[in-house]
Amino acid sequence: MKRILYSKNILIISKYLLISLQVLFLVSCVSQQQITKMGLAEFDKIKEKQKISKNQTHKKQVERVSKRLLQAMGQTGAWEFVVFEDETPNAFALPGGKVGIHTGIFQISKTDAGLATVLSHEIAHVLEGHSLSQVNKAQGVGLAGLAVNVALMKAGASRQTVASTNQAYAALSQIGFMLPNSRKHEYEADIVGMQYMAKAGYNPAEAVKLWERFADYNKKKGKSTTPEFLRTHPLDASRIKALRQELPKANAIYLRNKG
Ligand SMILES: [Zn+2]
Repeated sequence: MKRILYSKNILIISKYLLISLQVLFLVSCVSQQQITKMGLAEFDKIKEKQKISKNQTHKKQVERVSKRLLQAMGQTGAWEFVVFEDETPNAFALPGGKVGIHTGIFQISKTDAGLATVLSHEIAHVLEGHSLSQVNKAQGVGLAGLAVNVALMKAGASRQTVASTNQAYAALSQIGFMLPNSRKHEYEADIVGMQYMAKAGYNPAEAVKLWERFADYNKKKGKSTTPEFLRTHPLDASRIKALRQELPKANAIYLRNKG
């Protein structure tokens, strides 16, 4: 009996592996072009839905800082930076060089160098192609999940088994697969962004100070109580530590580029 179960399991596993391989082969990656198109369409939607800020001081600061950053990086493409009326301190980037900045971030960014930290982080997400790998990962997880389904169904598993496997799979892919990936992207954008701002002549030590101000804000709001492994963004403390480690490198770039 045990042996029969065992071989049935082997059958299920090998069928799953076979189908997974087929799926991997079939999932042709989403191209950068498609992703850019999606990003532009999404940004248009956001601009329709969300109120665009009329604050001229914020607008001018964003123009000044983004121009200096893009120039230093030799970026000539069609970038767009829009300030949205939203009190949550946040910023986001979409493929195709679209960057959204919430009005709430200015209470934390404070100076040009503070804003340069935020903007260069967002620019880094775009230039490092983070959305592309994220979308492809999401597609991969979704389709691999589907493959588990098909394999189980074919192997004659009960509906309930299929359902619970689905749940487990969804949970696992969320914690074990998707999140570490975006945490990795956050670290990357922090470090690369700090180098960008240094190249543009902004003191990278200000990046550390900005994240410290963010940490203070989060502490006051009680956001830092969520366990780190479940958060998309790394805890502020580990973020600050990583930035401090990379500071000497960025500082050398800054010393070469400051006016
Ligand atoms: Zn980010």
